[in-house]
Amino acid sequence: MKKHFRLPFDRTCIACRMVRKVDELWRYVRHPDGMVVLDSNGVFNGRGAYVCQNDKCFELAIKRKAFSRAFKKAILGINKGVD
Ligand SMILES: [Zn+2]
Repeated sequence: MKKHFRLPFDRTCIACRMVRKVDELWRYVRHPDGMVVLDSNGVFNGRGAYVCQNDKCFELAIKRKAFSRAFKKAILGINKGVD
């Protein structure tokens, strides 16, 4: 059964599959044009992909094509959005 209330934890990194709190993850969303961008304020609705806040997981996610898997759609580009 799906739970619809939002908890401030329990998201899985799409790269390493670690379950972490939301504030320990970067949230990415896919725009309709195929660009994946950082959703730093949580303003975009819809499916988000979560990555640990480190370069290793971000690059691993790209290498494994985890973003397109997470969104179940083709990705045209990814804007990391953080340094
Ligand atoms: Zn990770």
